[in-house]
Order: sequence, then structure tokens, then C-alpha cells
Amino acid sequence: MTTAATPEAFSFQAEISQLLHILSHSLYQNREIALRELVSNASDALNKLRHIQLTHEQYRDDQPLTITLVPDKEAKTLTIQDNGIGLTRDELIQNLGTIAHSGSKEFLTKLADNAKGDLSLIGQFGVGFYSAFMLADNVEVITRSYQETTGWKWESDGSGRFTVEPVEGDVPRGAQIRLHLKADLEEFLEPFRLKGIIRRYSTFVPYPVQLEGEQLNSQSPIWVEPKDQITAEQYDGFYQWLSHRSTEKPLWHLHLSSDYPLQFQSILYCPASNMELMGFGRMEHGIHLCAKRILVQPDNNDLLPEYLHFMYGLVDSADLPLNVSRETLQDHQVIPKLKKVLTKKVLDHLAGMSEEQPEQYRKFIDQFGSILRTGVSSDWENREKIAGLLRFHSTYGDDRAAVISLDDYSKRAAEGQTQIYYLTGLQRDALAKHPRLAAFQKRNLEVLLLDDPIDEYALAQLGEYKEKKLVSIDSADVSFPSSTDPVDEDLPPPPKDLPRVIELFRGALGDKVTDVKETSKLTDAPCTLTNAEGGYSRLLQTVISQQMKEFPRSKPVFEVNPRSGLIRRLAELSVNSANDDFIRNCALQLFAGAQLLDGLNPDPQETATRMQQFMEELAETKTTIIV
Ligand code: ADP
Repeated sequence: MTTAATPEAFSFQAEISQLLHILSHSLYQNREIALRELVSNASDALNKLRHIQLTHEQYRDDQPLTITLVPDKEAKTLTIQDNGIGLTRDELIQNLGTIAHSGSKEFLTKLADNAKGDLSLIGQFGVGFYSAFMLADNVEVITRSYQETTGWKWESDGSGRFTVEPVEGDVPRGAQIRLHLKADLEEFLEPFRLKGIIRRYSTFVPYPVQLEGEQLNSQSPIWVEPKDQITAEQYDGFYQWLSHRSTEKPLWHLHLSSDYPLQFQSILYCPASNMELMGFGRMEHGIHLCAKRILVQPDNNDLLPEYLHFMYGLVDSADLPLNVSRETLQDHQVIPKLKKVLTKKVLDHLAGMSEEQPEQYRKFIDQFGSILRTGVSSDWENREKIAGLLRFHSTYGDDRAAVISLDDYSKRAAEGQTQIYYLTGLQRDALAKHPRLAAFQKRNLEVLLLDDPIDEYALAQLGEYKEKKLVSIDSADVSFPSSTDPVDEDLPPPPKDLPRVIELFRGALGDKVTDVKETSKLTDAPCTLTNAEGGYSRLLQTVISQQMKEFPRSKPVFEVNPRSGLIRRLAELSVNSANDDFIRNCALQLFAGAQLLDGLNPDPQETATRMQQFMEELAETKTTIIV
């Protein structure tokens, strides 16, 4: 096999160059992963070919689809060979070097702040091929596309450039990735070492992986076997293969088998941790779809709803024709039916787990609750079920870390209570001390404490849960059950000059508020802001309007508490119009304080200046005389 013309040289796209630099200096323990990635690419190439063969008769032949490892001790090369679709010249140039993969930049940023240099996730970022440079200081790809009769060679030493040239003579269909192993990596030529790696990482690859005539992987489709015959190790191993997470055990799994009305088998896994919470971007994996044990589509995204996108797994359905094309798969009627059943099974499983294994369930909620809750607005049919699975902090009990369900809340609700109350904020500690809570606590009414406005969004979409309306406690819609009315409350009458204070407040606050009113919903605090129109809390409105500029935000009502000492004193002072300015300033400062309590930002400049002014006035009234 000789090459004809002079090789053409290309530069790697900038981020790929950077990635190669990191990979070639990677830690030793990452190196086995390179082999896993290359075998996984070979398996993908075989899948693509098998699919083409199913749909296009002219490409069929009787070659079995296999992956072969060829160690060459003399040349110190390890070749990973497949007879899959192969690559054309243009594909070589684009796919292996010049086109930026969306994942490469993301992967680089994450690597930069990952001290351990854990590269094991490389395959999920669509840059697995480059892991070859962890093992080799020179990589050749000799390939022939299934559509062509001549072959091509790609070669690089990973230092920023690669070459591509035509190959003379016969090149078998598919790709051979030839690794010129680094000096200290000759162990990758040893059959026992290669066997160990393949058994560990690639046993579920759906094509035989051969070494010196021996098949190394088991290829066993464990999902069609009865549950009781599968060991925990097998389940974990299958998860590790699906997820490319080589050491992690899943949090839970679900093994399903159904004959009617749909015939399918499936194993679904929930990962132990949510990579997205750790700052990794969205994981773009899906569920593997098989028809009668044959992989029809890896990473299908239509089998589970968006709010379960963190799940890994495989679904094998006998109701799917083998030759269904990727394009028509989306329209295939079996897919939505499967989705419906799988979704129900997962939600039921979660419900069962929340009852029977509360600790395990709490782990799940901590990791994936934030994704699950998006289902309340996106899955109309299951929204109540999903809402029942969510967990919230609340004012109930002393355990700050505890979380409760909407059903827990309902069970403890007061007689005649028709609303579920919640308070939204940004910080849990501040929320628990919010002055508006006092009136609820006095009536022994529980309030959910939502420290993430998205929780409120989910609840607001739901509107009500099992006939109880979900209401933000800053809303004008709040009503108290009469069973909780305080019996013998000895309220002082409101000060007679209160209307004058309210008038001054109105003037000072102008169009910052829709109105200034008296309230009976506070105990000690002088004032609060409420949402006259009901609907979203003002914090959520602010969060939404940061994303959507045209979102209409409602103005609050400023409610003053006639029982508060400060308000009573202001009423007294209001008889003398010389105090008007002071009272107006108080209105502005109280407004700013109420905004802060709601997690909103008042004008910092004005607020600080006014504070200082108050202090100056107060300082004036102090004396230097020691009594
Ligand atoms: P990913 O496989 O996630 O797309 P990779 O960096 O591993 O990312 O591979 C880049 C591309 O190179 C693949 O999408 C595929 O088009 C091509 N490729 C890699 N290995 C092979 C192979 N053995 N046969 C055919 N094409 C391959």
C-alpha cells in the first residue's frame, strides 16, 4: 500500500489544537478511555453502515460487521479496525480536524477548572476521536468510504497540523485507526491488557470486538433476560457502557418488559449525579432504540420527555421494523406510544420510591428535582403527578434541611383551607424570617419557602393542586380559613391620623405603587408590598422580565400596618406639617426595605444617601452630656 500524490496539509481548528495539547499530556489513568472511545466510534460507524444496508440494497454484502484490534509489537502500533461506513476525503478533513465541534470548547472550559483532569467524559462532547493522542504520538487513519472505490490516509502527530492523501491499491471498507504508541505505552500491545480494557469498558458494544481471532466482548443483550437472572454487576456494567461513566454506579434503574399493548423491553437508569449542576452543559445523550435486539438509533430523544432527559437507557421494541430510517423514525407511531408508557413507568417508579425509600428519593430530588419540575409546565397530562413528586422547604418543623411534598402540606392544612401558600425568595435564611410570614405563623398556617423563582414558576403553571389553589403570600388573592381566625385578639384601634400618613406615603411613592393601604396581615412589621393583581410574585416577575424585556410587570400595593409602633408614631407626628418631609422620606425608606426583603434591589444610591441622612438627623439629637 503506497500513497500517490504528495499529501495535502491542513491546520486543526484552534480549539481542537488546544484539546490535543491537553490530551497528549493527560494523566496516565485516562489512557484506557482512549481505547473505549475508538471502539465506540468503530461501533457507531458499523451502526451507520448497517442502517444503510437495511435501507439500500446495493450496499449489502455478506461481510460480518466487526471491530478488530491489531497490535504490532515490531512496529509498536495498535490498530483499531472496523468495516463500517468509512470516511471520504472531505469527511476526513471536516470530521477529524477542521470543523469545530460544539462540544470541544465546552469540554476545554470544563477541563480547565477540573483539577483532577478527568477526561472520562470526552465521548459525550463529540471529540472522542482525539483521545487517540493520549496513547499515540502519531496517528494514521486509513479509510475507504462505503460509497467509494479508493481509499484515503489521514495522519497527524497532534502538533497542530494533519495531512490527507489518497492511498494507492486496495483499502478495505471502513476505517483503521493506527496508533503509533508513545514510548512508555507498550503495554497496549499486550493481549491480556487489551482484553482487560475491552471487557471493562466495551463489553456491551453490539458488534464483536476481535483480537487474534478471539471475541473479547460479551455483546449480551441483558435487557431481554429475566430480571432475576441479571446480577448487580451486570446492571452496573451496562450503565457504565451506556453512560461512558466508567466508575459510577447509577442511583436507580428500572427494568421493564411488556407484551401488550406494546411489545418492548427496556432498562432505564438514573445517574448518581447531575453533571449539569456541576457546571457541565446539557448532556446531549438520549435513549438507545433497538428493534429486535438490533440498535436502530443511539441517543434517541423522543422516547422520554424533556424533563427526564438525564436518564440513560435502552428500549428494544419488536413493534419497530428494522429498516425504519432515522428520518421516518420520528414520525413512527410506535415512538409516541412508547414514550407515553415509559414516562408513566418512570413517574410511577419515582412515586413508589418516594414512599418506600425516602432517603434514596431525597438524593434523587437533590440532583434532578430542578429538571423534573420543568415537566409541570411541559407535560400537561402528567402535571399533577409530577407536581406530587416535587419537594419544597416549608415553615413546618424545625429541621431546616427537610423538604415536603404538596401532599404532606395538604394533609396538615387547616380546616376549610382552600389555598396552598408559598413565599418566593432567593435565600432560604432570609425567607424564613420574612415579616409577611408572621400572620401565617400566628394562624398556624404552613407556608412553602421557595428559594428558587423557577419553583414558583412551576407551581404557578399548575395553578392548583388537588383542589387547593397555589397562592403566593404577597398576592391580593390570599384568603385565610376562618377556622384560624384569632379568637380574642385585643387590637388597639388604628390611630386616628392614619389617613394623613397614608396620604403622605401616596404622594412620596407616586407611581412606584398602585396604592397605599392599611393591612391587617402583619404583626410587628410596619409595612409590606403586595401584588394587587395576584399572579406571579414580584420576584418572579423581575426574573422573567430580565429574560423577556417586553414582559409586563405589575406594580405593587404598599400596605401599612396600623399596629406597628413606627406607623403609630408617624400618625402622631403627621398633625404637624413641618414633619411632612420626614414622613415622606420614611415612606421611601420603608419601600426600599420592603423591596430588599422580597429579594429585589432598590436604587442603591438613593437608599444609601437617605439612610445617611436619617443617621445625621438622629446624631443631631444625641447629646455629649453624660448623665
Ligand atoms: P463523535 O463520534 O462524538 O462525533 P469523534 O471525535 O469521536 O466525535 O468523531 C468525529 C467524527 O469522525 C465522527 O462523528 C465520525 O463522523 C468520524 N469517525 C470517527 N471514527 C470513525 C470511524 N471509525 N469510522 C467512520 N467515521 C469515524
